[in-house]
Amino acid sequence: MGLTYWDQHNGCAVELVPVCPRCKANIYWTLISGKPGARGPARCANNMSSTRIITDPEHIITCDWEGVVVRAYGGGVNIYDENLSQLPHKVKQKP
Ligand SMILES: [Zn+2]
Repeated sequence: MGLTYWDQHNGCAVELVPVCPRCKANIYWTLISGKPGARGPARCANNMSSTRIITDPEHIITCDWEGVVVRAYGGGVNIYDENLSQLPHKVKQKP
């Protein structure tokens, strides 16, 4: 889903992955339609409605951020804040 870049010095690939603008957690999204421009809901992984395993209930982080996932031309998706502004990204090392 994210954009892939290659480090010129070591040749390793990294991916820019959008994260929640409030708590920097991963984003869960649903979009069944493959039609370009189709929209669906996106939620923070720390949203109470997101499925997760709770290992420490006394220190649980909850976040009610919601955004929009939009189907792009070519079949990929882009995730935006609810006002369609860009989200912060984290750098993830690709295997
Ligand atoms: Zn969040």
